[in-house]
Amino acid sequence: MNDILPGEVETWQFLEEQARRIFGTYGFSEIRVPVVEKTELFCRSIGETTDIVEKEMYTFNDKSDNSLTLRPEGTAPVMRSFIQNKLHTKDPVAKLYYMGPMFRYERPQKGRYRQFHQIGAEVIGVEDAKIDAQVLTMLAHYFDAVGIQDVELQLNSLGCPECRPAYRQALTSFLEAHLEALCDDCRRRYQTNPLRVLDCKVPGCKEATAEAPSVLDHLCGGCDDHFGKVQGYLHDVGTPFTINARMVRGLDYYSKTTFEMVTNSLGSQNAVAAGGRYDGLIKDLGGPPLSGIGFAMGVERLALMKGEGRIEPGRPDLFLATLGDDPARYAFGLMTRLQRRGLHAEMDYEGKSLKSQLRRADKLQARRVLIIGGDELARGEAQLRTMETSSQETISLEGIENLLLAGLTPAS
Ligand code: ATP
Ligand code: MG
Repeated sequence: MNDILPGEVETWQFLEEQARRIFGTYGFSEIRVPVVEKTELFCRSIGETTDIVEKEMYTFNDKSDNSLTLRPEGTAPVMRSFIQNKLHTKDPVAKLYYMGPMFRYERPQKGRYRQFHQIGAEVIGVEDAKIDAQVLTMLAHYFDAVGIQDVELQLNSLGCPECRPAYRQALTSFLEAHLEALCDDCRRRYQTNPLRVLDCKVPGCKEATAEAPSVLDHLCGGCDDHFGKVQGYLHDVGTPFTINARMVRGLDYYSKTTFEMVTNSLGSQNAVAAGGRYDGLIKDLGGPPLSGIGFAMGVERLALMKGEGRIEPGRPDLFLATLGDDPARYAFGLMTRLQRRGLHAEMDYEGKSLKSQLRRADKLQARRVLIIGGDELARGEAQLRTMETSSQETISLEGIENLLLAGLTPAS
């Protein structure tokens, strides 16, 4: 679990602000849900035989002996809230986004942590393939807007409760014939959750399943039609994608469209965002029979990818350096008035030497330094130094507030 410190937090704020801005233009509103839910919610939605539920959840009993879990993902809590607050009675279409910490007991490594953060979006109440294309286009738009280019949108369909059983059967038979090549985990789960085997990161399993039957060859008419339409709309609006028939996702609630935003720049942690359609989930959780689709982006991985293009911390517009008590008091008043009017101003609060004040102004990379001495103050003047041009001039303190706010160097 990481601290996010000044210097890196600016990149996080940028990633969050861009999400608010872009998701807003697609009609999404923010929803904030608790970080703790009843354990049952995750078992029922994510699925008992998934990695998350089998081994990654932070689960504990509270003082009333309720089993609670720190949320490992955001979709189930958002659906719980949607149902509990009967949001469908207020609007038949809900477009929601969230951001915040998630918790999974995983083996920590670069891009994989135990507390990590997701920015996610969900649309509830639209079955039409246009919404799949819209959500995917918004995701691609986001990556463009934050300047992360080295990514590929991969698309698949996992079918529905009608066509998946036949595919599951075909896959199980295939795996049965290749058992000796699979890892222990896969040998165990090939019967309980055969699709997970396709998602296994062990190289031997990848090899052994290279020729496994493709889910796309087993889609029913409805799913095939939906998948074709999603691709058609994506072509229409110019959102690039590739098909990856092996992508199965680690959560059981997905149906039809699934997708990942994949990169080559993060080693084996190659998924930066992932999501899909979950048409049965809301009903399974006791809500109305509404379909849903959404995604979650991993903020740590976005920030890692942003790397070089990181957002720098803000620089002060003005640093006030003073010599003596009266100038310090005057500067404190001026600084406060400027701050109240929106200028980023700083000073030395403790009466250090001028040399040390100027060193601090330098360290903070202040754009301008106003140097105020005792005699000058009495004359109503000060020295304004502009760091960029290394120029310095005497200026009148009268009206200086407005001049500084206007970002102007006064006429000499
Ligand atoms: P992976 O295959 O990398 O384990 P996942 O399929 O478990 O990912 P999801 O549950 O779909 O991931 O979560 C969506 C996104 O959240 C991922 O694409 C990733 O960017 C991020 N994410 C998931 N788990 C972690 C983690 N432990 N640390 C950091 N980011 C994570
Ligand atoms: Mg995972």
